[in-house]
Order: sequence, then structure tokens, then C-alpha cells
Amino acid sequence: MKYNFNAGPSALPQEVVKATADACLDFNGTGLSIMEIGHRTKDFQAVIDEAMALFKELLQIPEGYSVLFLGGGASLEFCMVPYNFLERKAAYLNTGVWASKAMKEAKLFGEVVEVASSADKNFTYIPQGFAIPEDADYLHITTNNTIYGTEMRYDLDSPVPLIADMSSDILSRPVDVSKYALIYGGAQKNISMAGLAFVIVKDELLGKVSRQIPTMLDYRTHVKEGSMFNTPPVVPIYTALQTLKWIKANGGVQGMAERAQQRAKVLYDEIDRNRLFQGTAREDSRSLMNITFVLKDEYKDLQDKFLAFASEKGLVGIKGHRLVGGFRASSYNAMTMEGINALVACMQEFEKQN
Ligand SMILES: *Cc1c(COP(=O)(O)O)cnc(C)c1O
Repeated sequence: MKYNFNAGPSALPQEVVKATADACLDFNGTGLSIMEIGHRTKDFQAVIDEAMALFKELLQIPEGYSVLFLGGGASLEFCMVPYNFLERKAAYLNTGVWASKAMKEAKLFGEVVEVASSADKNFTYIPQGFAIPEDADYLHITTNNTIYGTEMRYDLDSPVPLIADMSSDILSRPVDVSKYALIYGGAQKNISMAGLAFVIVKDELLGKVSRQIPTMLDYRTHVKEGSMFNTPPVVPIYTALQTLKWIKANGGVQGMAERAQQRAKVLYDEIDRNRLFQGTAREDSRSLMNITFVLKDEYKDLQDKFLAFASEKGLVGIKGHRLVGGFRASSYNAMTMEGINALVACMQEFEKQN
């Protein structure tokens, strides 16, 4: 038995993996693999239609928004967002590596104002109370900072259109989508396998910039064509549909949020209690999705030993990102309480031995 704490690509519910494996052998009783069928077939059209409808239902996405399934990952959205929205000036909240990468792309299109940054403390907290320039075309935020284990688990009030990278916390809590102009992310953290990005966009805000936009990079193309302008990532979309169904059957995003709270509480409580370990993120900014912790200075040399010990117990993927060090336990929707309990038991046993 393995418990998968990988940060991304990451754990998916067993039912989802199984359904995808089955469809790879025989999709809908067609005798063909999902990998082999045309994206414009009736059978696949039903898949993408249902995935978009379920996405809207689960997040209660209001009228006037489109859901898109695109290739290119979240990183292509770093460029598509300013291409489609930045006329003169954009505001960015700098909460880590991914936010910085998004800013770098935006600078190719216009002026970028960093409204606040937590770089001074290695991105261990979410800045609060910063001023948002009212003449910015939009404010960009990263709601969950996958590497540093910090999260904005609330919907910010912004006087300008709000755009959010939700790669690593989408569908883990209810979101007031009406507060956002656009939400995007890579699907490989909480929805599907790699190769797919999701976008939720408020249609009426598109088409306001004066520049020409290449067809594939213009959100209007994908809204108009229902994400079928070209061949979309067929299998990852199929997997996304299975995950969305699984979320619906397991209490929806409210159910996901409650379980995320429970898992995170148990693990953070142990990190705070255990003599050997300490958390890295400031308490008010702690992520429920990526739980980062290190050995206290006096126990630092036990790092490799703990990783080996955890690995023996079937705990996979808890090595921290090199920019933070230590450990990172990703606790996405598919993580079970059993997995968290196994990690806690491992930490307690390790404490007794050392
Ligand atoms: C993983 C991640 C990305 C990058 O996603 P790709 O799909 O690999 O481009 C961007 N933002 C956040 C918050 C992430 O966690």
C-alpha cells in the first residue's frame, strides 16, 4: 500500500484511475480505446459537455462564464492572461515562484505593478492589506502556493477584475466565482493527469485589448468553439470528468473543503506537537493542500533518515521542494485520512527512535 503525497502530478481517486484505465482498453463499449477515437465523435462530445456542465455545477459558476479545457498547462495561461487582458498596466501579488513566473510573462505586454510580496521571508506568508491600483486592468493572485505551502482560502475583494491561478486548490472549497474575471490552473494537481489546463472566464470581459491575438492564444476562439477549435487533450478530459463525478458523489466542493480541513488539522497538530519538526509557513497563511515542514535545526541531520523511514512505510513524495527544503505533504482532494494518519504515525515513531 502506497500513500501518494506528490505535489503534482499527484494522487487521483482510485475509482478515477480505474475508470480511465478501463476506457483506455474499451471506451463506452465501442471496442476502441479512448486514445483512438475522434474528438468530434458523439461519444467524446458527450464527455466534454458533461465535464463542462459538472464543473459549472460543482463550483456554482454563474451565467455569463465559460469553462475551457486547454493544452499548455498553467504556464501557458501566464502568457494568455496578459495577452487577452493587459492593455496598459496590471497588478500582481507576488507570493512565490509561480506568481513570479506569471509576472515575468505579463511584463512582455505592459507595465506590471507588484502590489505586495512575501519574498522578504522566503514566501512563508500571504501579504495582507495591500493597496490595489484602481487603474490596473486586473489584479493577478495565486490562491495556493504549491511550493511554499501558503494559501489564500478566501475570495479577495478587488476594485479591478480579479484573475487567479488556482492550479493547486481548485475544487477544494466553494469559490464565489462572481468575484473573478478569470480563474485558471493546470489540471494535474486536483483534477486530472498532466496535459490539461482549465479556465473559467467571464465572457463579457474578453475582447477589450487593442492588440491582435494569435488565434490559439485568444480566449474567444476557445469560448466560441467550446474548447474544440483544435484537438483537445482527450484522455485528460475524460479523467477530469471521472474526478468531477467523484467529487459530486463525495459531497461536492463543500465535502472536499471539510475533508481538507480535517486532514490538515491532524497533520499540522502533529507538526506543532512533535519535538523534531516545525512548520515553515506562518500559521495564518498555512495551506490545506501542501503542508510544508522541516526538522528543527538541532535535528537537521536526520533529514535523509526520515525520508528513508517514510519511504519504508509506503509514504511517497514527501521530500520538500529544493527552495524550501525539508518535507512537503500534499493533501489534495484524493488524499485520504488514512494516508494522513499513516504519516502522523510515522512521525511519532520516528520521534520515539530519535
Ligand atoms: C504546478 C503549478 C503551475 C504550473 O503548472 P503547469 O501546468 O506545469 O504549467 C502554476 N501555478 C501553480 C500554482 C502550480 O502549482
